[in-house]
Amino acid sequence: MKFTKPKQFTKLEHKEIYWNANYCLECDCKLEIKVREFSLNVIGLPLCRKCQNWLNGLDGTTTDNALTLYFALKARKVKAELEKFDGFKKIDIAIPSVKINIEVDGKHHNTNTKQAFSDLQRTYHSFLKGYFTLRIPNSLLYDDEMTEKTADYITDMIKKKSK
Ligand SMILES: [Zn+2]
Repeated sequence: MKFTKPKQFTKLEHKEIYWNANYCLECDCKLEIKVREFSLNVIGLPLCRKCQNWLNGLDGTTTDNALTLYFALKARKVKAELEKFDGFKKIDIAIPSVKINIEVDGKHHNTNTKQAFSDLQRTYHSFLKGYFTLRIPNSLLYDDEMTEKTADYITDMIKKKSK
């Protein structure tokens, strides 16, 4: 297994929230000091060995921005799932407990009519199954401050819906 630091985490690696965590950001298990240090240095996030392998084994279709938002939500203890298959297509980030699907959309979702209509059809089918689709444009995830604000907002939505 060859570990390389994904570029999307270079802007996150100095975050105190990650450096101070002694648990795995993905599965919540307690981290040994050496595993934690290795993960922070190589990947930029505190992950156990199993979850380091999982992250490295993702098929490459997950966008940097989806990963950034996903881990920002995980750091907030949101029970999110990455790349969840709904029977038709993979949802970028699913939060099954509150039936919210999050799609992190690049520019083409806005400028490409075919893509936009296909998005609408997916929203329709998810809605009929009781799922709300939240579309987050990439522009909310360009810098740290907006990413944190966005993650806080979504976390707040989920908390209010869980009540
Ligand atoms: Zn883990």
